[in-house]
Amino acid sequence: MVNAHSPGSVSQDPATAALIARRKAALGPAYRLFYREPLHIVRGQGVWLHAADGRQYLDAYNNVACVGHAHPHVVQAIAGQAATLATHTRYLDETVLRYAERILATVPAPLTHMMFTCSGSEANDLALRMAQARTGGTGIVVTAHAYHGVTQAVSALSPSLGAVADMPAHVRTVPAPDTFRAGGVAAQGFATAVAAAFDDLRHAGHIPAAFVCDALFSSDGVFDPPGDVWRNTIAAVHAAGALFIADEVQAGFGRAGGGLWGFARHGLRPDLVTLGKPMGNGYPVAAVLADPLITQAFAEQTRYFNTFGGNPVAAAAASAVLDVIETEDLIASAMAVGGALRRALGDLQSRFACIGDVRGAGLFVGVEILNRDDGTPDAVCASQIINAMRDRGVLLSGCGPQANVLKIRPPLVFDETHADLLVTTLEAVLAEPC
Ligand code: PMP
Repeated sequence: MVNAHSPGSVSQDPATAALIARRKAALGPAYRLFYREPLHIVRGQGVWLHAADGRQYLDAYNNVACVGHAHPHVVQAIAGQAATLATHTRYLDETVLRYAERILATVPAPLTHMMFTCSGSEANDLALRMAQARTGGTGIVVTAHAYHGVTQAVSALSPSLGAVADMPAHVRTVPAPDTFRAGGVAAQGFATAVAAAFDDLRHAGHIPAAFVCDALFSSDGVFDPPGDVWRNTIAAVHAAGALFIADEVQAGFGRAGGGLWGFARHGLRPDLVTLGKPMGNGYPVAAVLADPLITQAFAEQTRYFNTFGGNPVAAAAASAVLDVIETEDLIASAMAVGGALRRALGDLQSRFACIGDVRGAGLFVGVEILNRDDGTPDAVCASQIINAMRDRGVLLSGCGPQANVLKIRPPLVFDETHADLLVTTLEAVLAEPC
């Protein structure tokens, strides 16, 4: 994500510059803004974001508003429930139960329990605690440029944050299956690397607890390795005595096409699944889905209550999101529009040397930007493209260890006309020298 960020943001526009100064004064220095010329967005509708200066931007990046910004069905569900009752899970409540039953009907055995949190970080944190309770271990394996959240426990599993220069002793990293650079060979080696990482943990005295992995390797640069890579990897995880935590915070809720869940496309059976971001279309709601043997081991050690996790307003928002995904047929649409988008980007790849690879699944697309002369990852060029796209009214961002992969991840209501606009804008940007 680094390439699209603008840590020392300045603006030529006095109103924007004043907001940046106030933001820095009030929020401190740890936050980052997107884009060389930061945006002041005041309203969202569908796939469009409207700025304070009256310009509108095509949103090809925000997965949280998965059914579109300010979708009326979700807005009404939130408002209606907030006007009726906003308590918590210490009372009996139909809304949260109906939602949990609905979600659990979409996942394979043995995932029969659902526990609610407010953020993806909390969901991963809780999943870790449960994995530790079940295995008696603490050893974790993650990918080399993973992101799993902000708590103390999961920021330690997020090497993409950069600051965690020395991973904690109980964590090992493995390179993501880079299907572009080393093709199938590297991807097949993924399972072997995971097995070796768990062996190494065990030798160092850390009992294996979990392999935590984002189903589309979002911050590693967007990879979608074939199913056998996943199946071999999960077999290696289980052979090591560890559990598989599928982090679906980005890949879930239909984004990958071919089903609600990224992992399900390969027939995988995770032991734990974490959900978040798009789940409430902007209302904070997240969850863990778990094998009942795991929740049992956890419950024997402790009790669980999360004040806002699973509150009736969150459950109403999340139910409304599922309604829209179903009624607007957004999973099929993600598959069709994402496929068309990748094909059109593939055409650009054949004409522009700086595009090395176009990949992804559904409406989650990565475009690898390379130096035209020597074919090395080109973060500077990627950043120029991202900023030039913003200047022309299309919002996307970047990812990957070299910050050279364009990350395209629009609301699922993105249709083929929006995809066309993105591609023609990118074509115009690429025609300019990098
Ligand atoms: N896991 C993944 C894969 C994520 O992308 C994120 C958020 N970017 C998280 C976990 C953490 O979610 P949250 O920001 O809601 O805590």
